[in-house]
Amino acid sequence: MNSQWQPGRLNSDLDGAGFDTLAVRAGQTRGPEGEHGEALFLTSSYVFRSAAEAAACFAGEQPGNVYSRYMNPTVRTFEERIAAMEGAEQAVATASGMAAILATVMSLCSAGDHILVSRSVFGATVSLFDKYFKRFGVEVDYVGLSDIDRWRAACKPNTRLFFVESPSNPLAELVDIRALARVAQEQGALLAVDNCFCTPALQKPLALGADIVIHSATKYIDGQGRCLGGVVAGRHEHMQEVVGFLRTAGPSLSPFNAWVFLKGLETLRLRMAAHCASALELAGWLEQQPEVEKVYYAGLPSHPQHALACSQQSAFGAVVSFEVRGGREAAWRFIDATRVVSITANLGDAKTTITHPASTTHGRLPAETREAAGIRDGLIRLAVGLEDVEDLRADLQRGLEAVRG
Ligand SMILES: *Cc1c(COP(=O)(O)O)cnc(C)c1O
Repeated sequence: MNSQWQPGRLNSDLDGAGFDTLAVRAGQTRGPEGEHGEALFLTSSYVFRSAAEAAACFAGEQPGNVYSRYMNPTVRTFEERIAAMEGAEQAVATASGMAAILATVMSLCSAGDHILVSRSVFGATVSLFDKYFKRFGVEVDYVGLSDIDRWRAACKPNTRLFFVESPSNPLAELVDIRALARVAQEQGALLAVDNCFCTPALQKPLALGADIVIHSATKYIDGQGRCLGGVVAGRHEHMQEVVGFLRTAGPSLSPFNAWVFLKGLETLRLRMAAHCASALELAGWLEQQPEVEKVYYAGLPSHPQHALACSQQSAFGAVVSFEVRGGREAAWRFIDATRVVSITANLGDAKTTITHPASTTHGRLPAETREAAGIRDGLIRLAVGLEDVEDLRADLQRGLEAVRG
């Protein structure tokens, strides 16, 4: 008899299941109604059969739901599914990607610790480290992403955490995660990878030796630009600390958002395959256009880290950046001539987005810092969505024509 229709946990039969099966089924429990889709538990608290049971649940002596700041069945299903897809012992969901980074550092670092962060991480991540963590006595230094020797040289006896994004945004620089994990281990530090751009469909940092993987679920995990959320995954010993912080501080994921993300995970690999195929096609085409000086996309054989990308990712993601000749004026003309793609800085959406990093996401940086980071005035970032690639190419063609003038 198929055990599927019985109330209870359904994932006990999924040992050894493939990625797509986990994405569709892991973590689900079935209630007495026999519902097929995952149930959405919009409830902040839970009832008990007796005062004694309440006491035992509060004390953690008996399993049972207490309060949705730190346990909710829909959120738990999302956490278990992500853990299965990332190959993690445990995952903890948070209110946003930034809350995932906050929870990781607050729960695993202390005053006096030193953290190494890769240069060119997400803008709000830099603010979080520089404006807030430093205030509480945490030392933070930045290291160029790809140079492993620099990471080793930047370590101090109190280095506790390495934090990286690979590939980087917007210039698609990579770090050899296996090699960096070895350096972190030699130093007794933890390696955390923000895997937002690849998702577990393209890259599994824990299998490459990282200790912690972080996501903004707002991006590809949702995939349709609806909800904010985040998740941290790794070993039980670390995730218990993250749960403790969430329980106390409260940046918890809404069950409604968890439910939307569960639906997103079911199609994650298919969507990523379509995003990546269109991105690769457009990157190759852009590289051949005379108005384009340079394309930054690790899927192109001309990318200096193409071989590394092939060794640690199964595809190259959907963010394609390129420089047009003529600086900022040309880049703005290009962007303004498009009619299909959306002028917005978000990414990970079915809708393709186009951004001018130098005047938006990186606009507050001093010009020299921006130049040093490689964010030049002619740079345009495209986050390729799921529209017909021919329509996107035609739209970019309008941009190229505007650059020609
Ligand atoms: C968007 C993003 C974040 C922040 O996530 P939110 O869900 O917006 O808080 C963190 N890291 C990367 C790489 C991102 O793209």
